[in-house]
Amino acid sequence: MTEPIDELVLDGNAVAGALSEIYGDDMTTVLAECASCGNVDHIGELLAYVHAPGIVLRCTACTTVVLRIVQHPRGARVDVQGKRIPRPPK
Ligand SMILES: [Zn+2]
Repeated sequence: MTEPIDELVLDGNAVAGALSEIYGDDMTTVLAECASCGNVDHIGELLAYVHAPGIVLRCTACTTVVLRIVQHPRGARVDVQGKRIPRPPK
């Protein structure tokens, strides 16, 4: 039986519109490295929690918060403390 909370978890593609409004581009194919465990995912693959106040994207490996977005009437606040930009492949 699925835990009820699992029904609320989407992937980062579900928030592509919100990310595009903020960054002005499609962010789902951008790589994000988890600052906690070093796992690298496309933003579109992160676990998306959209039923909290704001949007929370979590690491698929350790569920640490990678990106947090709170939208308000005057704009949006984006917290990326859990995200590192991975080194380009050599
Ligand atoms: Zn992680």
